[in-house]
This record gives sequence, structure tokens and C-alpha cells, in this order.
Amino acid sequence: MRPYPINTVSIVIPVYNEEQSLPELLRRTEAACAQLSQKYEIVLVDDGSRDTSADILQDAAERPGSPVVAVILNRNYGQHAAIMAGFEQCIGDLVITLDADLQNPPEEIPRLVEQAALGYDVVGTVRNNRQDSALRRWPSKLINLAVQRSTGVAMSDYGCMLRAYRRSVVDAMLACRERSTFIPILANSFARHTTEVLVQHAEREYGDSKYSPMRLISLMFDLVTCMTTTPLRLLSVVGMGMATLGVLFALALIVLRLIYGAAWSGHGTFVLFAVLFVFTGGQFIGMGLLGEYLGRMYSDVRARPRFFIEKVLRSNDPVGTDSEPHPETSISISSSKAAS
Ligand code: UDP
Ligand code: MG
Repeated sequence: MRPYPINTVSIVIPVYNEEQSLPELLRRTEAACAQLSQKYEIVLVDDGSRDTSADILQDAAERPGSPVVAVILNRNYGQHAAIMAGFEQCIGDLVITLDADLQNPPEEIPRLVEQAALGYDVVGTVRNNRQDSALRRWPSKLINLAVQRSTGVAMSDYGCMLRAYRRSVVDAMLACRERSTFIPILANSFARHTTEVLVQHAEREYGDSKYSPMRLISLMFDLVTCMTTTPLRLLSVVGMGMATLGVLFALALIVLRLIYGAAWSGHGTFVLFAVLFVFTGGQFIGMGLLGEYLGRMYSDVRARPRFFIEKVLRSNDPVGTDSEPHPETSISISSSKAAS
């Protein structure tokens, strides 16, 4: 692993009806970024808020010399889509995401930058003393376990959005055209070196969580389907298991009937069960088969790049062409971009 030179850090924050948190968020994030030795920009994406959030963001971006970039979406697309919009607009070599509700303290930003500079592609965070209800903590533990098993990348906390991604990973995520996605997991599929740092987690001070139980369920499905199509395959496995058990049960009934007489098989009632099992199993196998096709179609429709080249090293520049200036040195932040 080699150190990663960082010229510019972009902070991307999705905002949905957070007018009460915004003044403090802006103040604390700017103070934290001012400690960085790199250039920085703070990209706030308004995800179709119905309160005055968008106005606050635009005002902040129009301040002379402001590091704030306001990205306003026309309607509510959801947290992860909003972050993607921020990714598209930011220019940093390192991109840090953060929640607007101050549950992730912006003061941790310099530590994440420090870790990323060591050469990690993705820096995740683990919530120290997580301040959520047990109802939120347990499902997220289960999910973390499932993700670890299916992606092979061992990270212990995917729920915390305070994370740092290097440019190449962000670009790879932008190349994915899927509509429902879960950024921390998507990022891991393009990362080589990942690490996690322990961060503080605060309770939400203003307003309520923007996730109703229904939205949480939908987010959970986004998370599972963005990572794997295994649940579809499970249908076939369950079906095969059921059908096999049904056949075994029928065989056992026949044997018992032959040895001990008709009473042992319940005068045919149990045979009905055995037949039922076999057919139900068959149905599941059929559904699983449909699932296999569906899963493949889904993968194709998502059109994720089949592989991802992190970088290409060549010992010689192509002969006869002018070499371009290195992108990292040609970046400059313009705050006028913020207002447009
Ligand atoms: N958010 C968003 N669009 C949405 C829902 C949420 O941009 O449709 C933002 C929200 O403003 C906050 C972050 O996503 O900055 C996390 O939302 P929230 O705190 O409600 O989620 P929780 O912490 O309860 O998981
Ligand atoms: Mg929150």
C-alpha cells in the first residue's frame, strides 16, 4: 500500500428537511475543514426539502469566498441518490460523506483524511456508543454479518455514513447506472485496501429520522439486492429440500404401510401430505428457476462494469504526444461554481 497524495478534499452531505441542523452543521464542518492542510469544498445536496434548507444552502454558497457548493435536486430522490448527485459535482481527490443531522461529528473529518492519505481506498467508521434504538441496532448487526459473508470485505459497520472514498472509487460508483443502491457496500466492491476508524456517534438533536419503517424496509432491500441475488437462488434450494423430504416421507409411509397395515399411514391422509410436499417443492424449484433468469437479467440491466481497473502504470509515456498536466495539480476550486 502506497501513500495517496491528496490535494483537494470534498465533503458531500445529503440534506432533507434539516433547516434546524444546518447552521450548526455548516459552522462545525467549516471549522473542521479549516484544520486540513489540503484545499477543500463542502458540497451540500438538497434532496427536495420542503422546508427552507435549500435557501439556507444557496445563501451559504453565495457568501464571498465560501467553500460551500449547493446542489439542489428538484425533488426527493433518497439519501443515496442525493449523495451520488454530490459525487457527480465534487472535484476532490478524496470524498468524505457525512449526515446532515450532526449524528456524525464533522470534527472526525481530519482523522479520515489522515487514514486515506496512508493509502486506503475506503475509510469506514465504526460507531462508538451508537445512539440508536435497539430496534435499529439489531437488524443492522444482522445486515453487517450478511454483507461480510457475501462480499468478503470485512467491515463491521455499514450504517454509518461518515466515510471517505478516494477519487477512483467514486468514479467507479458513478459509472454504475443502477437506481437503487447502497453506497458503502457499492464502494467496497471497488476498493482494495479498506480500514475502519472508531468515531463518536451523537443522538439526533433536531427533527426526526427521515426513515419511516417502510422506507427502512425499502433501504434494507436496496442493500441486499445491491450486493447479491442469492435470495432468489435460495428459492430453488428450499424447493429441492422440500421435494426431497416429500419423497422420503412418501417412501417411509409406503414401507410402514406394508409392514404395519393401513392404520399406520392414517388411511391415506399422510400420503396426501407427502404428495403436497413434493408438489410445493416443485413449485419452489420453478420459482427459483425464474429467479435465476431474473437475477441474470437484473445484473445485465444494472450494467455494472464487469471489472474495475484501479490505475494503469506505464514505464514510458507514449512517444510523440504532449503529456497532459497531472490532474491532481491542475485542480482548483472555484466558489463561483457553487452558485450556478
Ligand atoms: N436524507 C436525504 N434524503 C432522504 C432521507 C434522508 O438526503 O430522503 C438525508 C438526511 O437529511 C440526513 C441523512 O440523509 O442528512 C440521514 O438521514 P436520517 O438522519 O434521517 O437517517 P438515520 O440517521 O435515521 O438513519
Ligand atoms: Mg440520522
